[in-house]
Amino acid sequence: QIENIVPVQETVREWLRKPRHQLLIGGQWVDPVAGGTLATINPATGEVLAQIAAADAADVDRAVAAARTAFDDGAWRSMTPALRARLLWRIADLIDAHIEELSELETLDQGKALYVGRWAEIPMAAEQFRFFAGLCTKVTGDTIPSSINYQPVGKRVAAFTTKEPVGVVAAITPWNSPLIMHAMKLAPALAAGCTVVLKPAEETSLTALRLAELLVEAGVPAGVVNVVTGLGPVVGAALAAHKDVDKVAFTGSTQTGRAILDGARGNLKKVTLELGGKSPVVIMPDADLDAAIPGAANAIFFNGGQVCVAGSRLYAHRSIFDKVVAGVAAIARSTRLGHGLSPDTQMGPLVSKRQADRVKAYIDQAVADGATLVTGGGQKGPAGTFIEPTVITNADPASRIMCEEVFGPVVVATPFDDVAEVVAAANDTEFGLAASVWTQDLSAAHRLSSDIRAGTVWVNCHSFWDVALPIGGFKQSGWGRESGAGAIEKYLEIKTVCMVL
Ligand code: NAD
Repeated sequence: QIENIVPVQETVREWLRKPRHQLLIGGQWVDPVAGGTLATINPATGEVLAQIAAADAADVDRAVAAARTAFDDGAWRSMTPALRARLLWRIADLIDAHIEELSELETLDQGKALYVGRWAEIPMAAEQFRFFAGLCTKVTGDTIPSSINYQPVGKRVAAFTTKEPVGVVAAITPWNSPLIMHAMKLAPALAAGCTVVLKPAEETSLTALRLAELLVEAGVPAGVVNVVTGLGPVVGAALAAHKDVDKVAFTGSTQTGRAILDGARGNLKKVTLELGGKSPVVIMPDADLDAAIPGAANAIFFNGGQVCVAGSRLYAHRSIFDKVVAGVAAIARSTRLGHGLSPDTQMGPLVSKRQADRVKAYIDQAVADGATLVTGGGQKGPAGTFIEPTVITNADPASRIMCEEVFGPVVVATPFDDVAEVVAAANDTEFGLAASVWTQDLSAAHRLSSDIRAGTVWVNCHSFWDVALPIGGFKQSGWGRESGAGAIEKYLEIKTVCMVL
């Protein structure tokens, strides 16, 4: 049953009623130079939610110039770290104060079930700002004893390092979890003293625009954060190639990550990439199945599988394989699909008809290739955007469903007989973002967490997010890490100062 009856808060309704949403450039809300607009759609119903600005390269030039001016005038980067920290903390408090409104807006724009934003993503976005607020006052260099001997000529050497903001950052974000993705880039960039041009995904720009209003309200100076909405190959590509951008922080698909790198070649700007995944979930024979089965289901069905670390390949030991598949399939069948704002909804639509068609095509191709459809596979809803939670078995390890990121609620289950076999299978992918291992056996936990080549290995949990823990990929899942104290380093340059005195 797919429901459409939804209460919308009056504040959200009113905000959406704006005739069109503008760009934030240099502290002013402005129309794009060429006046373009894009419709943003509620994927649950197919209805137009709002008109957003469709910027182009001329607007990117204006936004980068504003960010450059705000960086060069020095007021932001030389603001005392303690004051910058307070400002970041204020942003977090404002996000918390608007949590109902932001989560509702995210659900309307992205489709996700309300609880995903309300209880996970929006609070986590606020925590990003609090965590990096704490780091503002802890950016320090080293004093380094030099061995170059100037003593015979009566001189001494003093050498030390300082850390300075990298400059103007282009933050380019995807549509699956918009607000948390913006926060994961803005918080460390601002803590480091950088200025930013944020380009949200064209499908889901609304919470970026609302967040920008909150940043202005918090007192972020003009030009320090600019928001430019529009199409990826236009706005994103112009930012990636821009000569006056010092760094691109990108989250999105591996394919777009490669395009970003091509664009960044011109001025060899710094690049961090958080890309796709095909993360394995490994259930050992001794696992607590009361935890592992719902854990494996949640690993793939949370947020409709539109999660970079989604557990899309399930490996269960042959002795428990049938029980695990039956358990995950039962959860899939009992999952309530509906409008994200409906209180009963456990899974909303996918972000767009295009994405739902893409996921459906992967399922149909897998079946045509000889895999077994255990449950799900249907595409539904008034706008054709709902995909039933789907469980597949008997897929060829070389088939597309086993190798490519589907980014939907589709899991492929495969049995294994021993640890060496499952390690090889888990690593048989071009990705390396995450994995989970379910076992009570300490040595299996250590062996698997050591041997699986992924940026995060969870044991007896999956998608455990904490701003203190670094997240990012091995292999083609990315370059660099976000979250964790080390993430701020990606927004800093080291300067060595060497003095002969
Ligand atoms: P996408 O690559 O299509 O788009 C991401 C962003 O890049 C959007 O803002 C888009 O407008 C922009 N873009 C598109 N083409 C561009 C170009 N030629 N030049 C510059 N920018 C361009 O990704 P998506 O479909 O929005 O998001 C899904 C992908 O994001 C999945 O692959 C998922 O795994 C990945 N993801 C990764 C992480 C992580 O932390 N590793 C987190 C979330 C999502």
